[in-house]
Amino acid sequence: VAEFAGRTALVTGGASGIGLAVARLLATAGAAVVVADYDEESARKAAAQLGSTGARAAAVRMDVTDPASVEAGVRFTVETFGALHLAVNNAGIAGPSAPTGAYPVEDWDRVVATNLSGVFYSMRHELPAIVAAGGGAIVNMSSILGTNGFAGSPAYVAAKHGVVGLTKSAALEYAAQNVRINAVGPGFIDTPLLRNADPQAREHLISLHPAGRLGTAEEVAELTVFLLSEKASFIHGSYHLVDGGYSAP
Ligand code: NAD
Repeated sequence: VAEFAGRTALVTGGASGIGLAVARLLATAGAAVVVADYDEESARKAAAQLGSTGARAAAVRMDVTDPASVEAGVRFTVETFGALHLAVNNAGIAGPSAPTGAYPVEDWDRVVATNLSGVFYSMRHELPAIVAAGGGAIVNMSSILGTNGFAGSPAYVAAKHGVVGLTKSAALEYAAQNVRINAVGPGFIDTPLLRNADPQAREHLISLHPAGRLGTAEEVAELTVFLLSEKASFIHGSYHLVDGGYSAP
C-alpha cells in the first residue's frame, strides 16, 4: 500500500516551485492532493498533470492573505476528498530588496501578509479539520532566513522568523491531539521565486552555499514529505534545514 494512501493533503502555493514538487511527491506516494494557489490557471494545470498520472488531485483558487479564501479552500478540500490530514503552508513571495530604513511600507505589509499571516490563516482553518480527521501533520515553509538575517530583506526575514515561532507554539498546542507541526528551512532554491535575480546576484547566492550550488525544489520536497510521514512520528515543533550547508558556519 502506498505510504499516504487514504490521506488528503492541501499544499498552498502548490502551483509552482517547491509547492509543486511537494504536491507531486505526495501524489506519487498515494495522497489525494489539493493544489491551492492564487494563480488559479497554474493550479488547475498542476492538478490536471497529477491527475493524468492516476493520482487523486484537485485545484482550488486560494489567496492566503484572505482568511475567507483560506476557509473556503479548506472547506473545498474536506468536501472533495472527505477529510484533511496533511497541510503544507508554502505560499510565499520574495518582495523587493531595500534596507530597513528605506523599505516600502506597502511591500512590508504584502510580504508579512503572505509569508506570516498567510501561514496563521492557513493553520487557523486547517487545524480544526485535521483534528476532526483524527490527527495528521503540517509543514510550514520557512527559510534559512527563519533564523539568519539577510541585508535588504527585512520583511521576508521577519516573516520567516515568525513562521518558526508560530510553528513551535502551534506544535505545543496540538501535539496531544495527534497533530505534528514542523517548519522547513530551505537555502536558496532554484525556483521561479528567484527568476528576477540577475546572473551576478545568482552567483553571489550560490557562493553562500558550501555545496556550491542552489538547491532543487525536489530536495526540499523530500524533507517536507518525510516530516509529513509516519517515519517522522516523534518529530514535533522543530525547524529543519535543507540548505547545502548555508547555516553551518
Ligand atoms: P514560487 O514563486 O515558485 O512559488 C510560490 C507559489 O506561491 C506560486 O505558485 C504563487 O502563485 C503562490 N502564491 C504567492 N502568493 C500567494 C497567495 N497570497 N496565496 C496563494 N498562493 C500564493 O516560489 P518557491 O521558491 O517555490 O517558494 C515556495 C516557498 O518556499 C515560499 O514560502 C518561499 O518563501 C520559500 N522559500 C523559497 C526559497 C527559494 O530560494 N526559492 C528559499 C527558502 C524558502
